[in-house]
Amino acid sequence: MTPSRRQIAGKIATALPLLLALVAGPALAAPPKPLPERFDVAVTVDDLPDHGALPPGMTRLSITRDHMALFKAHGVVEAFGFVNGANADDPDSNAALDAWRAAGHPLGNHTATHLNIDRAASLEAWIADLQAGEPAVTSRMQGQDWRYLRFPNLSTGATRERHDGAAAWLKAHGYRIAHVSVSFDDWAYTDAYARCAAKGDTAAIKLMEDQYLKGVDDALVRMRAVSLKVYGRVIPQVLLTHVGGWSARMLPQVLDRLDAAGAHYVTLAAAQKDPAYAQAEQWLGGDGIMERTARNTGVDLSALPPALSKPVDPQGLCR
Ligand SMILES: [Zn+2]
Repeated sequence: MTPSRRQIAGKIATALPLLLALVAGPALAAPPKPLPERFDVAVTVDDLPDHGALPPGMTRLSITRDHMALFKAHGVVEAFGFVNGANADDPDSNAALDAWRAAGHPLGNHTATHLNIDRAASLEAWIADLQAGEPAVTSRMQGQDWRYLRFPNLSTGATRERHDGAAAWLKAHGYRIAHVSVSFDDWAYTDAYARCAAKGDTAAIKLMEDQYLKGVDDALVRMRAVSLKVYGRVIPQVLLTHVGGWSARMLPQVLDRLDAAGAHYVTLAAAQKDPAYAQAEQWLGGDGIMERTARNTGVDLSALPPALSKPVDPQGLCR
């Protein structure tokens, strides 16, 4: 049976827009940008309640409220906050911790005084500081799962004595380690931002913003590249940020960039279910888990795009 003239005319009418689009090319309809490949990421925030110097006009509570509002706006399901209990010593700091919990986000331990395990006088002294940090957390996490430790400076112990001693104590006391796989070095800008804001040095702040956001972009590219090289896949990530004035200022743009890069927010427990996290615990030293794993398994990262470069050291600005 041959098609009727009407059927042929109908087929041409159906195909015509497609043909025109093919001939006219992108001028008619620009092809949609390919969506970035989605990746899971847990958000963690260190040095609660008071990371670094305060810029004028900000309080510990205002910084925390800004974080809470932005996390909500971007669908961050959980932001695990790690507390230095010794700093919860004034009403503003305590109000900030309460606001964190009121927003439904959990708290964990970051030791009382931010004591680096490798700088402690002994393993016992470090454990005592860790335990002194517990009340500020437990008083706000009753009935909740709070037993996570974030090691100060990400140092997990540089000797077998410290590393394995800490690991055994943490395990015996029901603690899990809160690892890190990606960060943007926001901490390096915190005090400089407070100084520059106090001086009204807008040029220095603009320089810091441009450099920092370029670093965020570079870090997100490197994150994928390192993960593919070390694991052959993009593992669920754990992001480290700090609860300071700089982070509060930059968080809108940082979260926009994470969203654009394909971020899908998950809990810390969900991210760390990936075996990459448990695997990294056996090795001494610090850093994020991907770098630590590369170092200990002989994976060469030197050909990958650079990490966070700081052509201008923010620590020297606005002195
Ligand atoms: Zn810290």
